[in-house]
Amino acid sequence: MSQLPVLISEAELNRQREIAALIAALPERPGSYHIVTYGCQMNAHDSEKLAGILESMGMREASDRLNADLVLFNTCCIRDNAERRALGNVVWLNELKKRKPGLMIGVCGCMVQQPLMAQRLIKRYPFVDLAFGTHNLHQLPAILYELLTQKKRVVSVSEQENLIAEGLPVRRQNDYKAFITIMYGCNNYCSYCIVPYVRGRERSRRMAEILTETEALIKSGTQEIMLLGQNVNSYGNGSDETFPQLLRALDAMGVPRIRFMTSHPKDLSDELIGVMAEGKHICNHLHLPVQSGSEVILQTMNRRYTRAEYLGRVKALRQAVPNIGLTTDFIVGFPGETEAQFEDTVSLVDAVGYDGAFTFIFSPRAGTKAASLEGQVSPEVAGERLRHLITAVEAGSSQAHRQMLGQMENVLVESVSKRDQNMVSGKGTRGITITLPGTPEDIGKIVPVKITSSAVNTLRAERT
Ligand code: SF4
Repeated sequence: MSQLPVLISEAELNRQREIAALIAALPERPGSYHIVTYGCQMNAHDSEKLAGILESMGMREASDRLNADLVLFNTCCIRDNAERRALGNVVWLNELKKRKPGLMIGVCGCMVQQPLMAQRLIKRYPFVDLAFGTHNLHQLPAILYELLTQKKRVVSVSEQENLIAEGLPVRRQNDYKAFITIMYGCNNYCSYCIVPYVRGRERSRRMAEILTETEALIKSGTQEIMLLGQNVNSYGNGSDETFPQLLRALDAMGVPRIRFMTSHPKDLSDELIGVMAEGKHICNHLHLPVQSGSEVILQTMNRRYTRAEYLGRVKALRQAVPNIGLTTDFIVGFPGETEAQFEDTVSLVDAVGYDGAFTFIFSPRAGTKAASLEGQVSPEVAGERLRHLITAVEAGSSQAHRQMLGQMENVLVESVSKRDQNMVSGKGTRGITITLPGTPEDIGKIVPVKITSSAVNTLRAERT
């Protein structure tokens, strides 16, 4: 069941703004902050909001954690190694704190939202000053105020998961490319995934709020928006607003490029494919996680589509948008996965021909169904399958890239090449990194190019 979102009241947001102003006037407040972000783009955008809130308290961003008065770790818990990496870094900062006693350390995000995790963190790591969950982000001023004025460590993890905060300050990483979260949470309960437990049930922002945010971004010169959600295709769940309607409205506003992620294959409707085909500004790229090519494994994963249905969606997409680039996610070594079932995954890679894929070894997460399934695959076998799969994905992407030779593309330039200062690189509309001759002045601009050569993960091009 989806749930109706509750907008955090203007009175509560004003209360937080007033506390932020009080902190700005405190002589003992941290002067600078540094945020370390783990995980997905939703987390990256949450960090932009955390940065916006901290700057509303008069703090400035420090270039690295060594030079910051407050270090915040915005964590991910989707895989065990993401958690271990975050904790390893937190422990490392304790050494710095011994030399710099005023240093404040905070941990927030998905890892902290897991049951009892915040309490365990605070108990086990006495040098951590703050721990707060994903549903408490807007309360950062009040949390920090308590730490500063009462000189005590603060834990704040709300279980009210249906909240949406509008109008939080945001400090975006750059001004030509912007994340817009359109929905939060997930209702799908894939058997391996912890997201529904830490991000809550699906709830969508109102379309009017998203259009207003986009309008402001267009006015400030943004070239590309990326719509974010755990399953954007089911945007509007429980209301009369749908994702195809939202995309159509955004396309009509004229923002040069629109991207979105993540799309659940079971919710990729014909209507949405039609909007992608008609849209003038919607990029010809779709990230469509499949996870496995095996019918049995897909069922055990509770993905709610069959291999044939997935391939049917790919066919429909390619008929409607012939030059579309597809990327995906795979999990290998899922409990019970046999060699033959793994081969089904490899054959699906060959059948689709992806531009790229994120490939992972199954990581059991406490509290999910898959963690207690029998038939756990040994790390050696899983590692071997991962290598085999990466080879198959690379063969497909090399072929897809070769087919682009001689084609015209438009690149949104993002950086100067580290190897050659006369080259710049950015993403084409299909989402592939393209390198071209250029200067730092090109950064943030869309440059038309012709593809001249290809490699596994990148393309080279000349300006037209
Ligand atoms: S769709 Fe599945 S994998 Fe994606 S966030 Fe939801 S539960 Fe996790």
